[in-house]
Amino acid sequence: MDNTPQKVALVTGITGQDGSYLAELLLEKGYMVHGVKRRASSFNTQRIDHIYQDQHEVHVNFKLHYGDLTDSTNIIRIIQEVQPDEIYNLGAMSHVKVSFDSPEYVANVDGLGTLRILEAVRILGLTKKTRVYQASTSELYGGLAENKNAAGFYDENSPFYPRSPYGAAKIYGFWITKNYREAYNMFACNGILFNHESPRRGETFVTRKITMAVAAIAKGKQDCLYLGNLNSQRDWGHAKDYVEAMWRILQQDVPEDYVIATGVTTYIRDFVIMAFAEVGVSLRFDGEQEKETATVVACSNPLYQIAIGTVVLRVDPEYYRPTEVDLLIGDPTKSKTQLGWKPQYDLTAMVKEMVVSDLKLY
Ligand code: NDP
Ligand code: GDP
Repeated sequence: MDNTPQKVALVTGITGQDGSYLAELLLEKGYMVHGVKRRASSFNTQRIDHIYQDQHEVHVNFKLHYGDLTDSTNIIRIIQEVQPDEIYNLGAMSHVKVSFDSPEYVANVDGLGTLRILEAVRILGLTKKTRVYQASTSELYGGLAENKNAAGFYDENSPFYPRSPYGAAKIYGFWITKNYREAYNMFACNGILFNHESPRRGETFVTRKITMAVAAIAKGKQDCLYLGNLNSQRDWGHAKDYVEAMWRILQQDVPEDYVIATGVTTYIRDFVIMAFAEVGVSLRFDGEQEKETATVVACSNPLYQIAIGTVVLRVDPEYYRPTEVDLLIGDPTKSKTQLGWKPQYDLTAMVKEMVVSDLKLY
């Protein structure tokens, strides 16, 4: 019989994309998983309903607590009750464009929320027991060309230059995590994750917006997709691979910060081309900047007949950001060598999975 005590994890942001994949991974590994969910006026647990357990069952290893990162009393109480071995702080207002509309809120949740978690661990005397993972982001780099390393990537030593209220709030989360590690000898680490997507990605992030529109257009439910800047480039990985890296970061002997990325970057326009290709549609792009459109030039899949000449994409400057991050590309060398992290998905496989999943929605 295995006498190792069951590890206990607390996940903020458990109802989000990453929280749901991480919860699955931790349950598979035998953890007792506690999650913080926000009270909402309608159900917000769609991504985790399949792992929900009736609390009246005998061997419950998944439990949700109502909470919010803006409420210290709530955070302290939950951590005291749960006594976690590991905390994954994934909760955040995670949308860059929306952060320009709610800058104070994003500072409170994404910046001070991180402090509330760290300080709760310290107040409760858990600094030796509890390891903390902080969901840091490639948005910290801001895409400044001169800050890339000699090989042309952002790595753990590249300087930061955030370009949004989201990035500015997350940079506080990054530094306060590092400071608590150094000041109080806590096992607190930043994962600097580049963009990661999946069929569970929020519907207003560009990849999911595209794959949902491709499915809707293929099924005759939508005419046209409106997007903002098609000229930015992102290093996109799969969320399922990235939560594995989060877990590995907390299993090391020494707490450190890691870049998690694929090392490949792709234009938004090329993601559009790849996603439409999944339903047999080839596109031609015409015009520049806000006049740009994409027109169907061929449709090879008999299931989805879209007339040649249909304009399926137009640019809407409403989706532009006051300041843009033009290019992100990360160097995953440290995470591959030190964590032994090996992503399973490439971009083509991920796009296919997302389009197939969204076709099922319609
Ligand atoms: P999601 O937006 O899918 O999930 C965010 C989660 O945070 C949701 O569970 C949300 O709850 C919760 N949340 C929002 N506000 C609060 C609050 N005030 N108190 C408590 N919880 C709150 O994000 P992802 O899963 O994609 O990302 C996870 C983390 O990783 C985030 O911190 C994000 O900023 C960061 N990150 C993400 C990247 C990506 O490409 N996905 C890249 C780098 C970093 P609800 O469901 O109720 O809205
Ligand atoms: P981000 O990298 O965290 O901001 O992730 P997003 O998926 O929100 O955006 C990625 C890139 O796509 C950014 O450069 C956006 O400006 C660009 N983009 C272009 N059109 C859109 C759109 O309609 N919605 C979103 N969310 N992003 C868009």
